Amino acid sequence: MAVLEILTYPDPRLEQIAQPVGQFDDALRTFIADLEETRLAGPGAVGIAAPQVGRSQRIVIVDISTKPKNPNHGHMVLINPEITDWEGFAVGREGCLSVPDFTGNVIRAERITLEARDERGTRRQFYCEGFEARAVQHEMDHLDGLLFLDRLVSRRNDLFKRKVYK
Ligand SMILES: [Zn+2]
Repeated sequence: MAVLEILTYPDPRLEQIAQPVGQFDDALRTFIADLEETRLAGPGAVGIAAPQVGRSQRIVIVDISTKPKNPNHGHMVLINPEITDWEGFAVGREGCLSVPDFTGNVIRAERITLEARDERGTRRQFYCEGFEARAVQHEMDHLDGLLFLDRLVSRRNDLFKRKVYK
C-alpha cells in the first residue's frame, strides 16, 4: 500500500472528466487500497476521488463514520456512481484535500439515491441523507472535473480562508 500524491487546485488534471471503470480486477483493488490509505493520511478527510491522485477514473470513497451523529453507511467504495433520485436542498460548509487553504458554503441535495458498483463489480444501491449525501455529491463532482469552488453562489460571501487544516 502507498500514500499517493494529492493534486491541488489549480492543477488542470482536476478539471478532466473521468472515465468509467470497465475491469474489476486485482489492479483496481490495489489502487482502491492505496486511495483509502491516502484518504486516511489526509487531515480528517471524509472522502476522496480518484482524479485527486491523478487517476482519471470514476472511483470515489466516502466514509463519514468518524462523525457518528450523522446517519451513514460506514465505508463506501463507489465505482461508476450515478445519482438516480434527489430531494431537498441545503447549504453546508465543505472542505477538500485538493483545496487545502479554503472552505466554502455549497448548496447540495439533502437526500439522494445512488447506484454504483463495488470493487468486485457488484451493483449496489444506496440511499444517503444529510452530511453523507453532501460528501457523496462533493466526491462525485471530482469525477466531472468540478471542485466546490465551482459551486459557490458567491466567492466573496461563501469562501473562507482556513488557518490550519483539521
Ligand atoms: Zn474534494
